[in-house]
Amino acid sequence: MVKKIAKTISKIGAPLYGVKGLIRKTGQHIVLPFYHSVANNTPIHIQHLYQSRSITSFKADLDFLLTHYKSISLHQLIELNDSDEEIDENYFHITFDDGLREFYDVVAPILKEKQVHATVFLNSDFIDNKQLFYRFKESILFDKLKDKSILSIPYSKEQHLDELALLNQIDFDAYLKEASPYLTSEQIKELIGDGITFGAHSKNHPLYKEISLEEQLVQTNESVKMITSQFGLDYSAFSFPFTDDGVSLAFFDKIYNQTDITFGGAGLKKDAAKNHLQRIAMETNCSGKAIIKNEYVYYLIKEMIGKNKIARL
Ligand SMILES: [Zn+2]
Repeated sequence: MVKKIAKTISKIGAPLYGVKGLIRKTGQHIVLPFYHSVANNTPIHIQHLYQSRSITSFKADLDFLLTHYKSISLHQLIELNDSDEEIDENYFHITFDDGLREFYDVVAPILKEKQVHATVFLNSDFIDNKQLFYRFKESILFDKLKDKSILSIPYSKEQHLDELALLNQIDFDAYLKEASPYLTSEQIKELIGDGITFGAHSKNHPLYKEISLEEQLVQTNESVKMITSQFGLDYSAFSFPFTDDGVSLAFFDKIYNQTDITFGGAGLKKDAAKNHLQRIAMETNCSGKAIIKNEYVYYLIKEMIGKNKIARL
């Protein structure tokens, strides 16, 4: 309830302030917007989960960001995060979760044209279209069966989805071949050559608060290890699948030596975990400008009630 009121106040308050003033007031000089897919037509495996950012909106987001912030690389972000020096410029780094083909087809050429850095987070089980994310299976099944309960089947019941598909003559392997939702190793290598950085996003995208600490560590360490070794990366980054909500400090302590930096998606917020940064979700109906400004005002409200930092047990 408090959250809802604070979000509404943010929406009303945000247009009253300029971006510069909001950055100064909050002291938040770095923004980390994140996306999944950018496309004018949302593919079936995504359509019933969320809407892709349209190409026009994405370009407008970048123009807004480039007006107020400087694009920095993942390496610069890691350095800034490690440094104790005060930040006097404003920076942004954009990231993409789930390693989707639209990054190669649509996003990369736009980033090249506008000279914007980006990092893509990959699920190690899905690269090269080897397997399908269980939520994508739900979207494909719902598209045909129109049964809403399909969309809330949890990760632990993924087998149900495979059984449902079999019963209804839906062939996920054929879908993977035909639609190729994911980036291939070849495309990833080419993108690395163009300066795009990559990180891991778990093996097969479970909701971390629903799995044990041991499973969280396996999902994280194995995916990070696989991606850094397969693509010869001298850095390691990780973004949480879905959310880092409920992930303990014990987890962060255990991965501290395995990753240079990790990312959540809780908006503009500080975090009790070291080397862990929160990003701003951009897949809403609002303009990039409105999303970022709302986050600043929301941050100021949270700061007043001491809720602008995620506390972890
Ligand atoms: Zn994801």
